[in-house]
Amino acid sequence: MFDKFFPSAYAKSVFHIDYKNLYAMGIRGIIFDVDNTLVHHGDDATKEIERFLEDIHDMNFKTVLLSDNSEERVKRFVRNIDTAYVYDAKKPATDGYEKAVSLMGIGKEETIMVGDQMFVDIIGANTYGIRSVLVSPIKTHRIEWCGFKRIIEKVILMFFYISNAGREGKKYVC
Ligand SMILES: [Mg+2]
Repeated sequence: MFDKFFPSAYAKSVFHIDYKNLYAMGIRGIIFDVDNTLVHHGDDATKEIERFLEDIHDMNFKTVLLSDNSEERVKRFVRNIDTAYVYDAKKPATDGYEKAVSLMGIGKEETIMVGDQMFVDIIGANTYGIRSVLVSPIKTHRIEWCGFKRIIEKVILMFFYISNAGREGKKYVC
């Protein structure tokens, strides 16, 4: 019933994904959402994230940042990061995903999307036909406009956990 909302797997954060295992599964390229996935919405890249993406590249993964945010915001974010990016992606529209995969020069089956929004990042990945990991959004103390959507996400995530998809997904993440 909720299949199009389900990620391939769920992880607490980008730091909790078993990338060695993803590589062993044949994944060679990772599409990362930026806001609330890598840093809090609108923030510059932290040293920790810059190092993290370096480590990912050292593991021989290609990366593309796929953001709905503006060119100015994404360019500012990648100042010290050697990665391709797509801005103003209008997720879940699939054009940005297609562009991201072509920028990496790999196949769809070798690509995985990592993002914090089920109704944006994950539906887009499912519609385009690539695997995905849903991560918890980076916490904020502000009340977000999308609070209601987050509640619905939690309900669907509960179905994900009790489904086979959830049980199998947990085998290669966390
Ligand atoms: Mg996001």
